[in-house]
Amino acid sequence: MELWVTEYQTPAIGFSCKSTETLRVEQTPFQHLSVINTEQFGKMLLLDGMVMTTEKDEFVYHEMISLVACNSHPQPENVLIIGGGDGGTLREVVRHPAVKNGTLVEIDERVVQASRDFFPSLACAFEDTKSQVLIEDGIKYVKEHKNCYDIVIVDSTDPVGPAVELFSKSFYENVFEVLKDDGMLVVQSDSPYYHPNVVQMAYNGIAGIFPLTKLYLANIPTYPSGLWSFTIGSKKYDPEKLMHEYDDGCRYYTRNLHRAAFNLPALVSKIIANGE
Ligand code: SAM
Repeated sequence: MELWVTEYQTPAIGFSCKSTETLRVEQTPFQHLSVINTEQFGKMLLLDGMVMTTEKDEFVYHEMISLVACNSHPQPENVLIIGGGDGGTLREVVRHPAVKNGTLVEIDERVVQASRDFFPSLACAFEDTKSQVLIEDGIKYVKEHKNCYDIVIVDSTDPVGPAVELFSKSFYENVFEVLKDDGMLVVQSDSPYYHPNVVQMAYNGIAGIFPLTKLYLANIPTYPSGLWSFTIGSKKYDPEKLMHEYDDGCRYYTRNLHRAAFNLPALVSKIIANGE
């Protein structure tokens, strides 16, 4: 018998994968977590029925959320990651030669455990000597720290459950304070095709606080519509300008793609310009 798993990306569209094995299903204190094996994408982590990462295409998201900021900040020594409990973003951050410390603040210990159990190529980051993993609420963490990070990366779930506040103005204000005077914030800001309202919420929230705000894109097969956006708020440096040219071992990011990723299709420019 064939088993297919469907993520309902909107009430009107689903993304289905043929599943070969169910590896874990549990309700954590924060969300529903499952890990399955799929024929097309290898192992897949889902939270509340939404695809978080897969073995075969994780590299796109993790390279793009990490290396654009790390390569455009001259001294990205201390990097804070909020969420990202699978470890993929931490892996990309700590392998950057200019990074000295990568701190991951994940609210749900069970996500970290699932990664340790099923995604060794992501979980390897937890053992890196530059890494620190804290199990706590990232919203509380940024309220309690000031002026200590060069880069903050918000590798969150979409704005539902424990991640709702991670898209709020007050959270972005606290991130502004936790960053040093020349710091940068990067967030995953959803699909321009299916969730333009989330793109706007992130972009406008950040643009209201940071002097420089830019959006860039990547193509991620398992994320809604395939076209995914990231938004950077910067206190000083232009995120389009390369300060480092590190792209060793990358499978998606390159120093040339860095610049290209900021060239937006007209429909995306319109979403962020007009609030449509
Ligand atoms: N790449 C993914 C995506 O966009 O689909 C995100 C993956 S990552 C696993 C998201 C993580 O954010 C989850 O593990 C979730 O537990 C964590 N998270 C949500 N709210 C959080 C909060 N307030 N503080 C820290 N982590 C949080």
